[in-house]
Amino acid sequence: MTERGSVPGSAGSEAESATELTELAERSAALEGQSAEAILAWVFEHYAGRRIGLSSAFGPEGCALIHLARAIRADVPVYTIDTGYLFAETLAVREAFRAQGADIRVVEPLVTIRTQAERHGPDLFARDPDACCEIRKVEPMRRVLDRLDVWITAIRRDQAVTRQGTPILGSARRGDGSLVVKVAPLVAWTRKDTWRYLMDHEVPYNALLDAGYTSIGCEPCTARPPGDDERGGRWSGTGKTECGIHHL
Ligand code: SF4
Repeated sequence: MTERGSVPGSAGSEAESATELTELAERSAALEGQSAEAILAWVFEHYAGRRIGLSSAFGPEGCALIHLARAIRADVPVYTIDTGYLFAETLAVREAFRAQGADIRVVEPLVTIRTQAERHGPDLFARDPDACCEIRKVEPMRRVLDRLDVWITAIRRDQAVTRQGTPILGSARRGDGSLVVKVAPLVAWTRKDTWRYLMDHEVPYNALLDAGYTSIGCEPCTARPPGDDERGGRWSGTGKTECGIHHL
């Protein structure tokens, strides 16, 4: 089996990495059915000494995950991408966690909105949201992965059809092709589970969630969902459903 704390793709040949990925999948299967707390405890113990960090855009699951992870390791870094298009309410919940002592690390795109407009024209999000997300979300996330060996994320399987197959332990690829362990401790949670946790633990959350929003990203690309689809208010009417960071 993989030695304690080893990270797939961090060293060795391609064949060794493939073996490690197989072992990661086996370990992921073994963690199925365990609580989010137990999964996180295992991750912090198994990968002790490695660079472990969360990413969050301060959606309800992200807020729950930060609270859960900090209960085990209070100083775990929380990386968050500030695209320049965030709601004031999102910035407020970010600061609420910072006020509680969370190690919030804000990562910004390499270009300002103004420079982006000079290069690509104004409001790129309205004409080519994939290109805008690449510049303002995906590229910054690649830089976050350069700083991590283990990336903990808050996605749930029942958020979208495309997320149904999400493993508890998977991997993501850095810009140089090397792999980072990607952990999704909340995969089995429902929306109800998330809200129960937030309420039971009095966790800060985005005030827009009390105003009919169910999934919150950048202001120009976020609306109240027209129906029951939790993520239906994101890039509404464009056919786009993901920003791209979960395809790294
Ligand atoms: Fe641009 Fe919209 Fe993507 Fe934000 S969500 S980076 S504004 S396209």
